[in-house]
Amino acid sequence: MLDLAIIGGGPAGLTAGLYATRGGLKNVTMFEKGMPGGQITQSSEIENYPGVTGEITGMDLMMPWPQQCQKFGLKHEMIEVTQVSRNSAGNFIVSLGDGTTQEALSVIVCTGSTPRRAGFTGEDTFFGRGVSTCATCDGFFYKGKEVVVIGGGDTALEEALHLAKICSKVYLVHRRDTFRAAPNTVKRVENTKNIELVLNASPKEVYGDEMGVTGITVVLGEGSVRDIEVPGVFTFVGNDVNNGVLQQDDGTFLCEMSERGEVMVTLSMATSTPGLYAAGDMRIEAPKQVVSAAGDGAVAALQVIAYVDEKLHS
Ligand code: FAD
Ligand code: NAP
Repeated sequence: MLDLAIIGGGPAGLTAGLYATRGGLKNVTMFEKGMPGGQITQSSEIENYPGVTGEITGMDLMMPWPQQCQKFGLKHEMIEVTQVSRNSAGNFIVSLGDGTTQEALSVIVCTGSTPRRAGFTGEDTFFGRGVSTCATCDGFFYKGKEVVVIGGGDTALEEALHLAKICSKVYLVHRRDTFRAAPNTVKRVENTKNIELVLNASPKEVYGDEMGVTGITVVLGEGSVRDIEVPGVFTFVGNDVNNGVLQQDDGTFLCEMSERGEVMVTLSMATSTPGLYAAGDMRIEAPKQVVSAAGDGAVAALQVIAYVDEKLHS
């Protein structure tokens, strides 16, 4: 029986593992389907992790984290978790991709979220080299330069406003001429001088060279093509929370979820199911940053230590 099963080995999962093992939990396993480190390992540069200065890639940042955890006894299994469920004793059953299961007293789910891709040519090739899904992370690289933002929802318009403060000009490319975003946000965008609305426009192809993106072509409503020369393209076309492991055989979720599929948590990262915690990008109102995901992992682990102690000694 595991004291704690951690699902996902990004910043949230690794920090949960560090705090849980260093805090005295003996039997802790982190299940990660790929290499530990999480989605930040795709980033070519991170400059907002406190205390880390100089040019550093996401991979560089995350490299020492697993080793630090292992020093305190965190076990790592490189395998996909297919489901987390609960048995009649109130313990958790972690089902694994190879058909086996493990039982755990507590679980921290940290499977993150996945920004949707818009699907235009070159999007994958230039992802992390001019195509981005995170303005907080990458906006500063385009200080004083022009960028394109794609999308017409709240995220796209709010991020366009954020980028307009840093960049010389933002082209907001949206496939329709009305927005999903809140009317007040739309008004603010319309009143921002350095945002140009490019409406009824679908992204066709992002192009560039070995240094990265140099521009994007968009197809306008009447079929003509417009070329916009920019070094940065931000896509905000929605997000998928990686919540599949919490889905039960009858289609319900193991704990309360928001309408958008995020896990509802308290400030202690506790879900509505005792012993089950969620941390990082997958929880409600997540800022979707490495530093906050790591913070969530620490908070959840400290709660788990108290939960397991009570369970073992009551
Ligand atoms: P993730 O990092 O998504 O980790 C989740 C982990 O769970 C993954 O490793 C995944 O493989 C694993 N997993 C998922 N499902 C399963 C399963 N069923 N079984 C086993 N394992 C599973 N943030 C910043 O603070 N600064 C930046 O500059 C920055 N730049 C970014 C650039 C890019 C290109 C991207 C994509 C993101 C960037 N971010 C940045 C955001 C940051 O990466 C995330 O907020 C952070 O990684 C979230 O951590 P997490 O642990 O919650 O989830
Ligand atoms: P969203 O509301 O689903 O909007 C996605 C946008 O991307 C839509 O405008 C959509 O166009 C466009 N889009 C989708 N696929 C595309 C593609 N392949 N190519 C080009 N454009 C594409 O997503 P979101 O903006 O991330 O917001 C998600 C939820 O969070 C929403 O409920 C939103 O209200 C909420 N949210 C709220 C706040 C806030 O309250 N401050 C902030 C952020 C997010 P169409 O419009 O044509 O479908």
